[in-house]
Amino acid sequence: MVGGGITGLVAGFRLAQRSCDVAVLEADDRPGGKVLTREEAGYLLEWGPSSLQGGSPALERLLEDLRLWPEVVYTRPAARRRYVLWRGRLRKIPTGPLSLALSSLLSLRGKLRLLLEPFRDGPGPEGEDVRSFFARRFGPQVAERLADPFVSGIYAGDPGLLEAASAFPRLVALERRHGSVIGGFWKARKEPRPETRTRRRQLLSFRRGLRTLPEALARGLGDRLRLGARAEAIRGTGAGWTVAVRRGGSLGEVLCDSVVLACPAPAAAALLAPLAPAAAEALRGIPYAPVALHALSYPEEPLRRWDGFGFLCPSSERAPILGALWSSRIFEGRAPAGRFLMTGFLGGAAHPDAAAAPGPERDRVVREFLASTLGAEAPEQAWSHLVPEAIPQLTIGHTRRIAAARAACASLPGLHLAGAYAGGVSVPSCAEDAERVASEVAPGYELG
Ligand SMILES: Cc1cc2nc3c(=O)[nH]c(=O)nc-3n(C[C@H](O)[C@H](O)[C@H](O)COP(=O)(O)OP(=O)(O)OC[C@H]3O[C@@H](n4cnc5c(N)ncnc54)[C@H](O)[C@@H]3O)c2cc1C
Repeated sequence: MVGGGITGLVAGFRLAQRSCDVAVLEADDRPGGKVLTREEAGYLLEWGPSSLQGGSPALERLLEDLRLWPEVVYTRPAARRRYVLWRGRLRKIPTGPLSLALSSLLSLRGKLRLLLEPFRDGPGPEGEDVRSFFARRFGPQVAERLADPFVSGIYAGDPGLLEAASAFPRLVALERRHGSVIGGFWKARKEPRPETRTRRRQLLSFRRGLRTLPEALARGLGDRLRLGARAEAIRGTGAGWTVAVRRGGSLGEVLCDSVVLACPAPAAAALLAPLAPAAAEALRGIPYAPVALHALSYPEEPLRRWDGFGFLCPSSERAPILGALWSSRIFEGRAPAGRFLMTGFLGGAAHPDAAAAPGPERDRVVREFLASTLGAEAPEQAWSHLVPEAIPQLTIGHTRRIAAARAACASLPGLHLAGAYAGGVSVPSCAEDAERVASEVAPGYELG
């Protein structure tokens, strides 16, 4: 397993459970990849994902097998409230028919256009971008004021560049199958679904933050997980594979029947280049957006009215940040009593320079913006973190690129691709992709 992020850890853990002789090579000195939780002065800072969507059988199997259910925490009820910045003011995102009717986010015309979705023609062209998909189905206002900020929140991406079928596969599939997204949701409600303890609309984390998941997987793997071990090259031996591994100052080798590349696309491309140039080229075509997270702590009292998940900024607002999470309002125990922790997001596909700006500049931008938008004055403490290759951008042609990479790897038996760019960026999607690849490596592998 090359990569000890969620994908590599889960796939390794599942194979180990099946008594496969597995080694998870992780270049970094800690497990988890993008999942990174830090504790600072009584605050719990998430420098990667901060919540997991419920309703995922793969995630729930893990929670069960790792005995993590007692550690699970759910979002506070008020965190259902989410906001979008529109014309300089925060507006609540409608969550049902009544809140839609009362919402100031869409005009009457925009609301009617949204409700006409079941009567629009479809499906759209192959390789349609996300912005066109939402505009065609729900109207330009929904595309600009809801879909655009939503895309920032998930992909830190540009909706005009992302491929709808890759970035929102479920919505595109509903349209293809039922001729309407809303109508499709309505019909799909009655279809049997795997039984899960959590629902899709529930968001969860752990008492000590999301690090709990990679830490538990690392414990489960024991010395099969090798930290500080970078895979530098892969060579076919005829009967299997040899992976050259640099650990500390020394270079060693791992001999194996199968190699799973569970690392980001650029790293996978570098390892594949001598073996499958066509696969490497396809993977090099997957760009990654950088994101900087900037957390600020405030006295809670003056900010009490901001109770919810946080807010996102549509690109047409030309805000200097993508949005902010009200971290201490989402889960309990993220800040000391009487303190409000906010995390601003900068950068993304459209503004990579904002993420890469020096720390003091990021601090100034986020501070000033939160002061002018929320009246958040005089933060007490600040912490910043840059994720240079944060989120794969599933841009137009992504489906084709993944198919090309897989086809080129098909002639290399025992070589597998997995991870956020291949199976979906969310942590539960990575867990699902990890189970898929584990069953590919060891067929007959049974889930649960
Ligand atoms: C800021 C941010 C916020 C996010 N928010 C959410 C959220 O709220 N909810 C959610 O579900 N998801 C969220 N995500 C997405 C999710 O965290 C990631 O998509 C997911 O964790 C990726 O897991 P992975 O294992 O596929 O890849 P990674 O986590 O990138 O792991 C790959 C690993 O491979 C290692 N590696 C690379 N090259 C080599 C090599 N040659 N040899 C050995 N090891 C190597 C790397 O060091 C890394 O640890 C967020 C992501 C970011 C960045």
